[in-house]
Amino acid sequence: MTIGGGSAAFAAAIKAAELGAKVAIVEQGTIGGTCVNIGCVPSKTLIKAAEICYHSAYSTFEGLAACPPPSDWQRVVRQKDELVAALREEKYVRVLAAHPNITLIRGRAELTGGRGVSIDGRAYSPGKIVIATGSRPWAPPIAGLAETGYVDSTDALSLSALPKSMVVIGAGTIGLELGQLFARFGVRVTMLETAPHVAAAEEPEISEALKNYLTGERLTLMTGVNIERVDRSGTQYHVQVVVDGGTKTLAADQLLVAAGRRSNTSGFGLERAVVTLGRKGEIVVDRHLRTTNADIYAAGDCIGNPMFVYVAAYAGQLAAENALSGAGRILDLFALPRVTFTDPQLASVGLTELEARGQGLDVEAVTLPVEHVPRAQAARNTKGLIKLIREHGNGRLVGAHVLAAEAGEVIQEATLQSGSS
Ligand SMILES: Cc1cc2nc3c(=O)[nH]c(=O)nc-3n(C[C@H](O)[C@H](O)[C@H](O)COP(=O)(O)OP(=O)(O)OC[C@H]3O[C@@H](n4cnc5c(N)ncnc54)[C@H](O)[C@@H]3O)c2cc1C
Repeated sequence: MTIGGGSAAFAAAIKAAELGAKVAIVEQGTIGGTCVNIGCVPSKTLIKAAEICYHSAYSTFEGLAACPPPSDWQRVVRQKDELVAALREEKYVRVLAAHPNITLIRGRAELTGGRGVSIDGRAYSPGKIVIATGSRPWAPPIAGLAETGYVDSTDALSLSALPKSMVVIGAGTIGLELGQLFARFGVRVTMLETAPHVAAAEEPEISEALKNYLTGERLTLMTGVNIERVDRSGTQYHVQVVVDGGTKTLAADQLLVAAGRRSNTSGFGLERAVVTLGRKGEIVVDRHLRTTNADIYAAGDCIGNPMFVYVAAYAGQLAAENALSGAGRILDLFALPRVTFTDPQLASVGLTELEARGQGLDVEAVTLPVEHVPRAQAARNTKGLIKLIREHGNGRLVGAHVLAAEAGEVIQEATLQSGSS
């Protein structure tokens, strides 16, 4: 049985069915979970729409007439909803129909102890359980925030109308993607980040270059900010911040909080099943994805970072295989690429220079501005910076960091290199 019906759960269920098991997927909400409904799919299609809107208005080729920005945001959102519905049907509902050994049970699962599960009052005792309950948006404890209300990434992707101005709290992956998306649809966006850099986990040079490109699109980005409180009067939010030693109050029509996500691990009896949680509420698993209960495995966002759909799917099938066959396969995230779908995209794999040196590696780093790459010149899009880190002596690539138009594709080669060395 899987608890949850998102990407990790589907991958687990399909693998279990292939191994001959009868499987139940238990889902309390919309089938397909975060990625298809409220995550990757809706955000990436709206990002593409915003990109086309921006580049048609600000073409880098002479002789191309500027197109006006879109006047029908609602139509763009409706088209996104149509895509979400179609992909949910194709990638999840039809997959169920193609696997007679997999049954969908709609309802909320609660663990009752051992291998016991209760779904809306009915008791089950599956042989093995894979928990795949995902994650939810998290908001920092800022004074006034709970009272004023705000939108999270889910709400933002379905706004009924575009605001004139928006403050975005958090300049990590989701905040940056959504901040640029709204700016490109003409919203005046101010982004607030408490860390010294946007995309704080990335190479500082790359984060700084991305910040400059976004600033060039008239987004305001403030880093090293302390957010003191949030108020609301009428239709306006007021966000009081301390930045560079001074206090400022920012006013906006909309407030988006994109400050990270937390695993869904409370309120369904994990403690009764003796499943241990970590510091941020994530399920603790060993390298075979087994929890502290020998019959319960876990995969996806509920086990914490890194929260990516391809990690969830990989971990889901691995958890099912280990649970059913005792294969003892190990979750190996050694060469794991990550992509932030801004424009230019930011993609990396492996270690940063600082991390490599911190691990005692003798490394050298080279950086190459994308403006020197002829293909970028030909495409008239020379935004970007590439930083590669290799070990002295053997030349082993230990980290690749790419800020470029198609960085998400470019990083694959570096991933293969670092995975094979
Ligand atoms: C805005 C946004 C953009 C993103 N973009 C990308 C991207 O571009 N690339 C990428 O790789 N990743 C992206 N992600 C992350 C990706 O969506 C997640 O990592 C992935 O969907 C997690 O899958 P999961 O199966 O672990 O959880 P989910 O898909 O969240 O599934 C969990 C399911 O469990 C159900 N559930 C919870 N508790 C119970 C219970 N007790 N009983 C029954 N059901 C329960 C929930 O209703 C939910 O449907 C994005 C996320 C967001 C929010």
